[in-house]
Amino acid sequence: MAGAGGVARIGVIGGSGLYRMDDLADVEEHRVETPFGPPSDAITVGTLAGERVAFLPRHGAGHRYAPADIPARANIYALKRLGVERVVAVSAVGSLREGLAPLDLVVPDQLFDRTTSRPRSFFESGGADGGCVVHVAFAEPFCPDLRGRLSAAAGAPAVGARVHDGGTLVVIEGPQFSTRAESRVFRGWGLDLIGMTTLPEARLAREAELCYATLALVTDYDVWKTDEEPVTVQLVVERLGRNAEAARQVLRELVPRLAGGRACGCGDALRDAIITDPARIAPETRLRLGLFLDRYLP
Ligand SMILES: [Zn+2]
Repeated sequence: MAGAGGVARIGVIGGSGLYRMDDLADVEEHRVETPFGPPSDAITVGTLAGERVAFLPRHGAGHRYAPADIPARANIYALKRLGVERVVAVSAVGSLREGLAPLDLVVPDQLFDRTTSRPRSFFESGGADGGCVVHVAFAEPFCPDLRGRLSAAAGAPAVGARVHDGGTLVVIEGPQFSTRAESRVFRGWGLDLIGMTTLPEARLAREAELCYATLALVTDYDVWKTDEEPVTVQLVVERLGRNAEAARQVLRELVPRLAGGRACGCGDALRDAIITDPARIAPETRLRLGLFLDRYLP
């Protein structure tokens, strides 16, 4: 069905290894059209711990989208269209620190952007008259409230994994893994984790006024640790399977902790961020971005 608002308040974006959520009950499938094309896949909405949850596999079922080709704008728009307010993003990552071991869970608190060619805003004007320019705050790229709840859920005894609260995730363009020189430089810069998909997703979630937090699942030590076996897709896939089960358990713990309304500023991220004179915003722009702009424009 075409997207209708209010079907789920919690969204989950599954990463490598997490292509479905088998423990959702009363499932329905939503194929949502967006001004940014179709999302990575149909969105599955179902009940988990008494809450309706919308699940979207970031790479599509069967892992069809490379990191740079993921339709991140369509994905975030579609979740917003379904009424989602909070997004938990699950991502496989490499570790840049000895103490962040494979199969550990990390809830990062900072991002460092090394992507190069991805649309990173809903509000790109293209320099044309009639667009809308928006500058949202991004000093704290993750919702602090959702991060805290996610970290607590990950640390629940039922999950049984080692959890690290905080850390900086560098997002590279890929699809190749890093060179050893890059990996060593990232370590020297004080970065903790490396991945390919959290950006622009987190930027777009902020523009869409969604709470967003990442559950990072460590699969390997990237390539800096020369006493480890080199990273291969096979090695990563084997650990992804084990990590995916931990992620499912974390989500079962997290959802009951998301009852009630939001106690953060994410839902008003655009309030002081629209800089274009409303009189200069064209009707086509209003139509295309009305899901975000209507509550702020006369
Ligand atoms: Zn928030």
